[in-house]
Amino acid sequence: MSQLQNFRDQFPLLEQQVNGKPLIYFDNGATTQKPSSVIAASGQFYQSQNANVHRASHAISTRATQAFEETRRQVQAFIGAQYSHEVIWTSGTTHAINLIAQCWALENLTAGDEIIISVAEHHANIVPWQVVAEQTGARLVAVGLTDKGIVDLADFETCLTHRTKLVAVNHIANVTGMINPIEAIIARAKEVGAKTLIDGAQAIAHLPINVTELDCDFYVFSAHKMYGPTGLGVLYAKQALLMQMKPYQYGGEMIKTVSLKTGTVFNELPFKFEAGTPNIVGVVAFAKAIELIKDNFDFIHQQDAALSQYLFDKLTDTDGVELVFSRQADIPLYAFVVNNHHNQDVSSYLDSQGIAIRAGHHCAMPLMESLHMNGCLRVSLAPYNTMAEIDIFIDKLTVFIKGETDSCLDTGSGNELATSIRSESMEMNEIIERFTQAKSWDQKHREIMLLGKSFERMDKTLRSAQSLISGCESQAWLVAIKQGETFYFYADSDAKIVRGLLRITLAAYQHKTAAQIQAFDINAYFEKLGLLSHLSPSRGNGLLAIVEKIKALALS
Ligand code: PLP
Repeated sequence: MSQLQNFRDQFPLLEQQVNGKPLIYFDNGATTQKPSSVIAASGQFYQSQNANVHRASHAISTRATQAFEETRRQVQAFIGAQYSHEVIWTSGTTHAINLIAQCWALENLTAGDEIIISVAEHHANIVPWQVVAEQTGARLVAVGLTDKGIVDLADFETCLTHRTKLVAVNHIANVTGMINPIEAIIARAKEVGAKTLIDGAQAIAHLPINVTELDCDFYVFSAHKMYGPTGLGVLYAKQALLMQMKPYQYGGEMIKTVSLKTGTVFNELPFKFEAGTPNIVGVVAFAKAIELIKDNFDFIHQQDAALSQYLFDKLTDTDGVELVFSRQADIPLYAFVVNNHHNQDVSSYLDSQGIAIRAGHHCAMPLMESLHMNGCLRVSLAPYNTMAEIDIFIDKLTVFIKGETDSCLDTGSGNELATSIRSESMEMNEIIERFTQAKSWDQKHREIMLLGKSFERMDKTLRSAQSLISGCESQAWLVAIKQGETFYFYADSDAKIVRGLLRITLAAYQHKTAAQIQAFDINAYFEKLGLLSHLSPSRGNGLLAIVEKIKALALS
């Protein structure tokens, strides 16, 4: 058996069919799948080992504590930290950065100090610093990128001053897939006396990390992006800093003594920062994820490089695809757009074919802003992905681009449908009938796209800030006209799939009174259409925002 097959076989989720097609999971930048060893360790812990840690003087608590602390030592070795108590458990990268902001930055920064980040940071490494800047009077400065998509060292030099107190940048950005020159950044930051925080969320599964050699002050990452459990992350910080920092969450575990007479003495490191019962099962199972990476170290790096090259070649050869950064990435992660097609239309078509990719701003809105983009598509692969999967992905993408998908055809039943929509004669029942006939998600998706395609576009003058629906990843507009006691709605979107969903949703609300609109059960309607499991009115796809806006307009 090949090493790839052997590695892939450890991830049971990958074997499933999605929307009637074998799943191709290309959203590993968001989270990676879990190997059987991690899944089994979680089950085994609850089955035979479950007890609270550090508290009870009984056998299973001792065993749980030993396993829990053993993982901390494994992480220490994995990232080359000097002491295991420099490894603090958090709920993830976001929590770790917030901890640094609260416990270190708010205590150490004053008005006029500067925090440097890059424009390509995840919101988790931007928003906490905006808040710190607001609260302390410090200035937040964002360094630009080179054409390759890495931090521009020349720009960094111009931003760095004797007032710089913190440099917080990612090791690999979640939209660029490029390794930043963090060694140079750390060295220069040190020369001006600034502390350094490296967001390793995207790097930790792909690169060997040695925090002692890097000599950074803080390094943070999430377990779920490296085959481990969700709800767990690591804050590495140098011992001296952790000693100075005050805790910011108080309660059990983080205390040595509590007295109503003399007050509280905080616990030693690392417990000072771990108030309350931690994610014990997550930590114990995480050990298996680290073992997996260590055992497959060479394979992971070879496969990463091969996938990155193959994917780059294929994407560059596909007409209509434009890479956001047109060079081979350091990890198999590429951001791109498809000419003349909305990102959501591309991703929803691929989803109907069992291919999971990401569309949107990728929690990097400032980067999108600096690139003058509304969003993009992202494929992010893990070493369990294969070249054959890339081939299928490229084939399906090509079919979509060439307009050869059923949902792009202008003939046959689709055309009849289009005509009936244009004549405004289609009622809710007609929509329900069509969706009942369409059995698979593939077919239902096609119906939505056809509805979107033939949905009459709104007059441009009506597409104003006032009619914009916030909360949608695409742009969508809605206008209500009151006719007597009932309402008539006009809507539009830049994404065909959203136009289709608007058409379906509006059919349920047209010519109804305010009371009927408030009372209508949209979930039951979507259930009837067979859409609820794919497109429930949730925040994720913007449907909830559309429904909320309809209700708000009917009330106002
Ligand atoms: N930083 C980067 C570079 C990321 O890619 C992510 C998640 O995608 C985060 C931070 C936030 O990670 P989490 O949601 O696990 O806290």
